[in-house]
Amino acid sequence: MKASTSNRRQFLGTTAAAGSLLASRPQAQAPVSRPAGKPAVLGGTPVRSKPFPSWPVTDQTEEKALLDVLHGGTWFRGDGKTVDRFEAEYARVMGSRHCLATANGTSALITSLAGMGVGPGDEVIIPPYTFIATLNAVLIRFALPVFVDVDRETFQIDPGKIEAAITDRTAAIMPVHIGGSAADMKSILEIGRRRKVPILEDACQAHFGEWEGKKLGSLGAAGCFSFQASKNLNSGEGGAILTDDESLAEKCFAFHNNCRPRRINSLNFTYLGPAGANLRLTEFQAGLLLAQMTRTEKQARSRNRNALYLTKLLEAIPGIRPARLYPGNSRSAWHLYMFRYEPEKFAGLTRSRFLKALRAEGVPASSGYAPLQRDPLLKEAIGSKAFRMLYPEQRLKQWWERNQCPANDQVCEEAVWFTQTMLLGEQSDMDQIAEAVAKISRHAGDLLKI
Ligand SMILES: *Cc1c(COP(=O)(O)O)cnc(C)c1O
Repeated sequence: MKASTSNRRQFLGTTAAAGSLLASRPQAQAPVSRPAGKPAVLGGTPVRSKPFPSWPVTDQTEEKALLDVLHGGTWFRGDGKTVDRFEAEYARVMGSRHCLATANGTSALITSLAGMGVGPGDEVIIPPYTFIATLNAVLIRFALPVFVDVDRETFQIDPGKIEAAITDRTAAIMPVHIGGSAADMKSILEIGRRRKVPILEDACQAHFGEWEGKKLGSLGAAGCFSFQASKNLNSGEGGAILTDDESLAEKCFAFHNNCRPRRINSLNFTYLGPAGANLRLTEFQAGLLLAQMTRTEKQARSRNRNALYLTKLLEAIPGIRPARLYPGNSRSAWHLYMFRYEPEKFAGLTRSRFLKALRAEGVPASSGYAPLQRDPLLKEAIGSKAFRMLYPEQRLKQWWERNQCPANDQVCEEAVWFTQTMLLGEQSDMDQIAEAVAKISRHAGDLLKI
């Protein structure tokens, strides 16, 4: 969730400024039936004054983990040390045979694509509703990103549109479990099997989310995670790849270790190509991750409990359409709580005014991603010397023409996001979020000029 750093700063400011008048306000029952108070943005009392839970959550566990590495003297990835321990633990918890820790989620994606042999001339299918790293990983391998539009109801890649995008150049399908909720893995795995295209899951937002009881990121040929500070498992920066395929795991290891296969500390200078980089995680970060992981399952349960409850409340408010989960998505990771906002049900109140009014009530919210398939960056990338050398002009021209994602354009205009930390507190926090939305709904007509 890195799209809106400035928004986040803005709304944190709003929350802090809301004061502490309402700390002991009685809990909401049905939000829609509460008496009408004036909207905070018009000078009324905000629904909520308390800040939401802060992130990251730490205690002495983290301190000890960091000091152990500090005093242990091995600060970079050492054989049998903390990174190895983290990988074994993450693989165990996620139900995968192999885990490779990387410097961050972007490098996990790049390393996986490299390990799978994806490169110039290849096509990789991705959804446009994602963080730019998904796209960058494909571009930096000089492969062509092929956008498949999203399903407006779920915000995920539209499973019904994937097959038509497959060509004999398709080297991978990269579904993104956006917001931590699952893409339709039943359909996607089936398409992959039938068309013999490997599935690389971008699970960078989906730690501990599940599909039919199995962990997201453990279902495809490989799955990638980010441990960047905003993510549900955090070591400041960090990443990991999961796979059951030993040969892929070894290729990825070599790629992330400057073409050097295991072991790390050996003075073995034989290389496994074709090319590589240093994308290793440090021992400090692995220590932090092991410490953070003592809480991850409990946090995942809290988010899930709160998010499902919030959905019940918000669904009752006309014009609020929470992103639907696919039936197989037995648990979302809820990195983001996403819904579509319909201005016509709010007297025509624009989304940006809705967000402003919501923030004033003490509920931080943002509008999320802009359409990636139209980002000017793409023109620069596809028009660059490398792409012009690698791809016939006709193929690039066709690529531009195919690149239409109307549902994504719509989702980008309608989306509203809450962040994962807002789901870590009490059920009463959810009551207040819903109450704030309901209050704006009741007063929508008065807010048209804010
Ligand atoms: C965060 C994120 C990444 C990249 O992870 P970093 O650790 O920031 O490099 C990739 N894909 C998605 C969907 C993400 O949210």
